[in-house]
Amino acid sequence: MFGFIGDWKPLYIISRVLEEGKKSHYEPSISADDRDAIVLDDHETYVPHFQRVSISGEDTSGVPLEDLERASKMLVDALRLRKRYMNLSHQNFCQTAARFLDPTRVERKHGEKQTIEEDCWSKRSAKYEDECNPCMSESLLNYILDDDEVEEHGIHPPEHQPWKIQDVPDTKHVFKSNRGVFEVYKDEDAMNKNNPCDFQYPDMDTFITDMNLMCSLIADGPLKSFCYRRLSYLSSKFQLHVLLNELRELASQKAVPHRDFYNIRKVDTHIHAASCMNQKHLLRFIKKTLKNNADEVVTISGGQPMTLKQVFQSMNLTTYDLTVDMLDVHADRNTFHRFDKFNAKYNPIGESRLREVFLKTDNYINGKYFARIIKEVASDLEESKYQNAELRLSIYGKSKEEWDKLAKWAIDSNVYSDNVRWLIQVPRLFDIFKLNKMLDNFQQILDNIFVPLFEVTAKPSSHPELHRFLQYVIGFDCVDDESKPENPAFDSNTLPPDQWRDEENPNYAYYLYYLFANLTTLNHLRVLKGLHPLNLRPHCGEAGPVQHLVCGYLLSENISHGLLLRKVPVLQYLYYLAQIGIAMSPLSNNSLFLNYHRNPLPEYLARGLVVSLSTDDPLQFHFTKEPLMEEYSIAAQVWKLSSCDMCELARNSVLMSGFSHKVKKCWLGPNYTREGVAGNDISRTNVPDIRVAFRYETLIEELSNIFKSVLQQANSTDYQ
Ligand SMILES: [Zn+2]
Repeated sequence: MFGFIGDWKPLYIISRVLEEGKKSHYEPSISADDRDAIVLDDHETYVPHFQRVSISGEDTSGVPLEDLERASKMLVDALRLRKRYMNLSHQNFCQTAARFLDPTRVERKHGEKQTIEEDCWSKRSAKYEDECNPCMSESLLNYILDDDEVEEHGIHPPEHQPWKIQDVPDTKHVFKSNRGVFEVYKDEDAMNKNNPCDFQYPDMDTFITDMNLMCSLIADGPLKSFCYRRLSYLSSKFQLHVLLNELRELASQKAVPHRDFYNIRKVDTHIHAASCMNQKHLLRFIKKTLKNNADEVVTISGGQPMTLKQVFQSMNLTTYDLTVDMLDVHADRNTFHRFDKFNAKYNPIGESRLREVFLKTDNYINGKYFARIIKEVASDLEESKYQNAELRLSIYGKSKEEWDKLAKWAIDSNVYSDNVRWLIQVPRLFDIFKLNKMLDNFQQILDNIFVPLFEVTAKPSSHPELHRFLQYVIGFDCVDDESKPENPAFDSNTLPPDQWRDEENPNYAYYLYYLFANLTTLNHLRVLKGLHPLNLRPHCGEAGPVQHLVCGYLLSENISHGLLLRKVPVLQYLYYLAQIGIAMSPLSNNSLFLNYHRNPLPEYLARGLVVSLSTDDPLQFHFTKEPLMEEYSIAAQVWKLSSCDMCELARNSVLMSGFSHKVKKCWLGPNYTREGVAGNDISRTNVPDIRVAFRYETLIEELSNIFKSVLQQANSTDYQ
């Protein structure tokens, strides 16, 4: 759908960007009060004072000039590719890199970002008046009394009514699939005339060409050496930075009143709803339910209704017998490299029936118990106040009713929390459905996932509950065991989804491409209707072929795991340059794929990749009531992370999360989208400006290096 052209802007524009890039890090942390008063005419006043590591000399990249030129050209091409995919799909692309790619770009204004819950927020003052009565809710009262609050940009986002309907009018848009991708038409008439809306997306051939380009790029010898050297340089530079500035960083953290690691916002960026409680919590919950609801019919077995008591009788168990050991949901040394054994751990006591009764949204009791336990987890998060989670719920693509049922579950049981947002995980299970004759071809999966979404976007009144529920859905995840063998071929001979009737599962790239392409056209429509776009945030690079990480690079806003980047320097460097978020779960990796001491997280963090800590499955991996803190705690102990490192990880987690712009403004500071120090507010993030300045200057330096070289080449060819 789009070609690949590198057109180069004249020298002066890019050099202006380079100059500005160097200047803008002198901007200070700007707090809510003085953000308008700041005049940046005296940079020196706001320079965070620290010792900088700089390399001087003619050519500082450490490789022959021609290698540098070649490598730079390829890296810029790769960045340009990602930018196109992100722009088309309404996902975020790193602002700093975008500025280098397109120096003439008009900066999108801070306040114009699309957000979720915008509507509810703007009605906040109205609600405030409504609720100023004797039965004012406790949280609202706290909100008013809390002196942390600044009227405009409070630290704590105010409460709102979660299921209030968003006012989005119905339109006549219709849609149909064109070789696996839904295209949208203005109305029936346009569809009959075959005149689709101009919602661009990369077609399959373009994607295949781009994939191949990227695959040859990551295998290129000289480029590999170049990237490897740059990454090593970044590690060493960080060591020096810490050596020289550690005390200053610590001192500036100490100087901030009230704020410390415990009361900065953190988001668990990768956690599955079905395993978001720890094993002790699940056990307690099962015991409690068995005591209070023994005679409730919970399932049908062989046509016969079964009460909870009977379910346990059929297993010869009483409440007294139940222990954590018997529950047997924890991963142990036997699950290492055995994803099948790990999957079986999702069944308490090895019984799939218990999983069905307690951990599913769609069962005989309409997910009543599951909703209850999720709400308990959410209230623990609320109590901790500063911890938040992005829980994954499944949509399998088995039937078109799945979405409506899920939305009904959430609304009927009122599963909502300010601290929780949803991601939808699509498991790659086509082969299983096909084997069990539940589906005939792959297109049916796409229909089941996307038709309801297009319908509800065009006509919110057609699925009112889904429309409400989607307010809190921030994107898609794609999950399964990546180490399963797959057919790597994805080329122009690959069958389109409606002809994919094979018993074999399509490969990772196929799943991700069709999720991406359909999300792209859906997001066009959603944005047109004033709704927030949905992101793609797949599990990627946990195991299996490195091509998965290429897909992630092109198609997704950020990824979970990314372990295998350690083996692919070119991709790792690109993930750095494009500042792609990586949600890492070292405890989960330790039980499944990679021992803790070999985990690349500390290395990624040192180099400046945007990494965050996440728990993945507290039910299987964690022991305490605060799994996210457990994750931070172990990482800090094992890798000797400083308080500054921990706060940086936490800030990253908020930045890469799907919480709304307005919420992030409260959590990170009103200017958080600005680049460099200007975007940091130490009184909220507890990350020293020195650290932020170091990261920003380093990124600018790397990008300048590459773009300068490409620019010089372009100029020399101009004059020939
Ligand atoms: Zn996971």
